[in-house]
Formats: sequence, structure tokens, C-alpha cells
Amino acid sequence: MNPRLLKTQWQALPEKTIRRLQAEKLRHYLRQIVLPFSAHYRDLFRQHGLTADSIRSLEDMQRLPFTSKTDLLNTPDQPQRARDFVLVPDPHVLSRRPATILRALRHGRNEAKRSLEAEFRPIFMTSTTGRSADPIPFLFTQHDLLNLALAGRRLFEVCGARCEMRTLNMFPYAPHLAFWQAHYGGTAFGIFVTSTGGGKVMGTEGNLRLIRKIRPDVLIGMPTFIYHVLLQAAKDGVRCENLRRVVLGGEKVSDGVRRKLSNLAHEIGAREMDVVATYGFTEAKMAWGECPCGPDETPGGYHLYPDLGIFEIINPRTGEPVSSGGPGEIVFTALDARGTVVLRYRTGDFIDGGLVYGPCPHCGRSAPRLIGNISRSSEVKEMRLDKIKGTLVDFNQLEHVLDDAEHVGAWQLELRKRNDDPLEVDELILHIQKTDSFADDRLVRDLNNCFVAKTEIHPNRIVFHDADAMRDLQGVGVQLKEQKIVDHRKPGQVSGSSRPTDKVAPAEDGRSAETLDMVK
Ligand SMILES: [Zn+2]
Repeated sequence: MNPRLLKTQWQALPEKTIRRLQAEKLRHYLRQIVLPFSAHYRDLFRQHGLTADSIRSLEDMQRLPFTSKTDLLNTPDQPQRARDFVLVPDPHVLSRRPATILRALRHGRNEAKRSLEAEFRPIFMTSTTGRSADPIPFLFTQHDLLNLALAGRRLFEVCGARCEMRTLNMFPYAPHLAFWQAHYGGTAFGIFVTSTGGGKVMGTEGNLRLIRKIRPDVLIGMPTFIYHVLLQAAKDGVRCENLRRVVLGGEKVSDGVRRKLSNLAHEIGAREMDVVATYGFTEAKMAWGECPCGPDETPGGYHLYPDLGIFEIINPRTGEPVSSGGPGEIVFTALDARGTVVLRYRTGDFIDGGLVYGPCPHCGRSAPRLIGNISRSSEVKEMRLDKIKGTLVDFNQLEHVLDDAEHVGAWQLELRKRNDDPLEVDELILHIQKTDSFADDRLVRDLNNCFVAKTEIHPNRIVFHDADAMRDLQGVGVQLKEQKIVDHRKPGQVSGSSRPTDKVAPAEDGRSAETLDMVK
């Protein structure tokens, strides 16, 4: 079977064909690209007595050990571990390849050299947004940028974009995947895109000004930031009748978030508006999206590109694969990357509807799809938030409770020590901006009931704020990513108490402790 089918027919192949072609492509990729040029995987395969030919089917991938974030983190002994994941081509090996020789004969030596440079020389990078650890750089070559554009073009297609639409890219301008995926995807698709850089670059006001001026059909960005901008737009009486699509990324998207954004979009005049979510991560160097569906229908999941990566869903405890559509942790293997390459990478992200094949009920594409809600355990682990008052708390659950809660707009969960005394007990404070005039005391009672039903704890206090105070609290326009969960338990991290009018006290140069954490 023609292996190119995987690329040309990426959205139209049956499961069996996809899996067979992926295994074939992986074997070829390992033999020609990864094992000769990746220091990490060359050693790993050798240690386990594996070769490219050990992988005859996707099931054989289980013989290969997982890669996790800790494998990429520097240690005092190995200060440059991420470098071992970057492909470093051996000119001697490349010069003997038939493809290189053929190209040199046809187009001359210089052209052959230029082509290899485009394939292997890193020219761009994005990095992870670690809080406790240093950000991990992921390098892109020209070959990777073409794939980033290809993935982005498909993402726009899946999300239902049309060339005549106008797009406002509101992701924060930073060396992070989301901004660049939207930028490269938009230009590859051939749609008008203006990038505001998010709240930190232009502020809410600057974003609103561009909404007034451009009257976008599509808004792309992080849910919390778009929520704040649309809330302000509604308050200021801004109209944007042609808004058709809100494309979300960078945070989890619950039904409640979709509902709140739809309501706000209708307030500013949008008539037919779909909210679609995307999912992506630095290590994959691309993102995937949902196709639009009706407000009362279940989304069709993230449409994956089978020619660019292989997904597995595993039981996070045993590492064993789960059955089709079963919940588990998402594991990713690159199939066509250069620069930084990871195989069987454990994302720490859990998907409750698993991986499915077969035609999407909404758009009919037959690409593999990730279904349901994604919970990112990595952020909670990194902030060591899992234990409050000695009780294990599922923050993903809490986030869904708050996102889905009626009458609640933006919110923030704050952890601190009582009286800011490091020896005192933990306190959980819930900050809320209401969407309507529902009575405070009834909302407090409802939320406390919800918390107790989902976890063993309830907030020590629930504090109400207006939209402006909430924007300050979440760091809109100050932080790269709005803060929905903050941990102020460590001494010296932040000062001040939590009276309703209080803001997070800024550090000396005007940024709060966590911003400093993120940019260091
Ligand atoms: Zn679909």
C-alpha cells in the first residue's frame, strides 16, 4: 500500500489502514531519522536490545520504554539533557544515502546541501511553561515549520474556517506553541489573521479596539482571557454581529465555559456562534481541534493527524494500553519531526473518552479522535496542589464544578496559610465574579454543597468581586496566562490578606511572584 496515503488521505482512512501505515512509517522514521541521529533514542534502543525492525505493528511499540518530562529535565550531572533529544545529523551517513546522492546528481551538490540544512538545522523554538522547573526548549527546523503550518491549516479546516473570514489571534505573544500554531496555521490556510499578543501586550482595551476595528468572524485564544474581553465588550456596548467562531486553547474547556462564552457572544450581537476547543502541547509541536457542532450536541473530539504522530491511551498506573474509547493518559509519538523528537511521550494529560477511530458524527472525517474532557495533572503536580489540609483534592473536578456552576463567571481558587503563618493550617479561598444578580448567600450555600459533593473539603471563605477586581486578581494583562488556581502557602510568595477589594500584592517590579516564576 502506498505510504503517502496517510498524508494525502489523512481524514479518510479506516482504522486498520491507518494503524498499518503508521507502523510502516514509524519503522522507516526510526531507521532513517531517529536512531541514526538521536543520542537519547540510539542509547535507549541499544540498552533494550531493540532496532527499528523490532516495531512491526503499533502493538510492538509497547516494547519501547516511555519518555516523560523528567527525562528532558536537566540534572547537575547532565546539564543539557534536552539536547540529547535533538536530531544531530551525521554528514557522513547522509552523504551516502541514495536520496542525497540522487538529489546531488540531479540538482547539484549545493542544492543537496541546502535541502539537508532545511531538514535538519534548527531555526525556531517554543518551550514548555514550567513553573517549578526550567522551561524545556523544543527545536524546530524548516521541515518542522512546514509541518506546523500543515497541522495549523488542517486545524483551521476542522474548526470550520473559511478564507473570507477574519481572525483575531488573542493568544499571548511568547515562545509558546499556541500563538505560533495559530499564526502559522492561519497563514497556511490563507485566512486574514491579526495577532494581538493577548492581554499582556495590548491590554483588554487594545484587544477591544481591534474587535471594533476588524469585526472578526473568529476569535482564537485562551478561555479565561477571551471571557474577560467579551465581558468588557458587553459592558461597553461593543457590537460584533459577524462573530461566528470562538476557538479555544491553552486551558481545559468545560461545557460551562462554552455556555458562558456563547452567552456573552450573543450579548454583543453574534447570532450563530460555535465554540470549539483545541488541544496541543509543546512536545508534539502541533495542536488539534474539534469540528463545530450544535450547542446541545456532544463535540466530536480532537481530530488527529495520523501521518504526523501516533497516539496511545494507557492506564497511568500500569502503563498498559486501554481498550478503544477507554479513559486514560495520552501518550504521543512523533512520526515526522526533526529538531527535538520524543517517542512514547507521557503527557500527564488524562482523557475521559479515550481514542476512537471511524467517521466523526458531525463532519464525517475518518481521522483518529480524542474524545471528552482532558485533565492536565502536570500543572497541579508542578504546583504541589494535590493536598489541602492534608486531604487529597482533585483540582480537575473542582475546576469543572466552578466552570459549570450557574451564576458564576470568572473565578479563582486561592490557597494560603491562615494568617500567612507557615506553621498554620491551609485555607482555601474561592474568589468569584457573578454573571447575574443571584443572591450571594444562596450562591455560597449552593457552591458549598457542590464542593462537599465532589471533594471532602469546602472553601473557608467565598469572596465576591466585580469584573474589574477579578481581572486584577487573575492577572489579566499582567500575567502570560490568567491565574485560576494560585498557591500562596509558601512564605514570602505573596503578602496581603483576602478582603474583597484586595489585589494580589505585586512584587517589587510590579509583577507578582508567579509571573517572576514563569519568566525566569
Ligand atoms: Zn468532526
